[in-house]
Amino acid sequence: MPKFTGNCLCGAVSFEADGKPSFQANCHCKDCRQVTGAAYATLVFMNEADVKITGQVQSFDHTVDSGSVLTKEFCGTCGSQMFGKNAARPGSMSLRGGSINEQDLVQPQLNVFAGSKMDCTFLDPSIPAHDKMPV
Ligand SMILES: [Zn+2]
Ligand SMILES: [Zn+2]
Repeated sequence: MPKFTGNCLCGAVSFEADGKPSFQANCHCKDCRQVTGAAYATLVFMNEADVKITGQVQSFDHTVDSGSVLTKEFCGTCGSQMFGKNAARPGSMSLRGGSINEQDLVQPQLNVFAGSKMDCTFLDPSIPAHDKMPV
């Protein structure tokens, strides 16, 4: 059973996650680019029940084109993006690949929203790329 650990930049928020990620993807959508400040977000989806969070997060909700309400959770001290939730997918949450210590367990299977990737971003040709989010 893989075990993930990670923390924000200042250490006020940390997590431990047991179990296998249900899905891992690099997301190139504009929301992910803006919220992370990076070229794309590496999202590691887990069952919420398998993730133990220590410390206080702050959150921000926003509605996307599909009508779903997404929640971004971040450290209120250092601002690191930590977790994501989608009201349409209860029980599931995402971790940010960059905050996971066990980097060998971070293995994105797909590029999603590749249609809105930055021109400078190179896509790994060994994994599929979808212009949007495949269902
Ligand atoms: Zn922090
Ligand atoms: Zn995204």
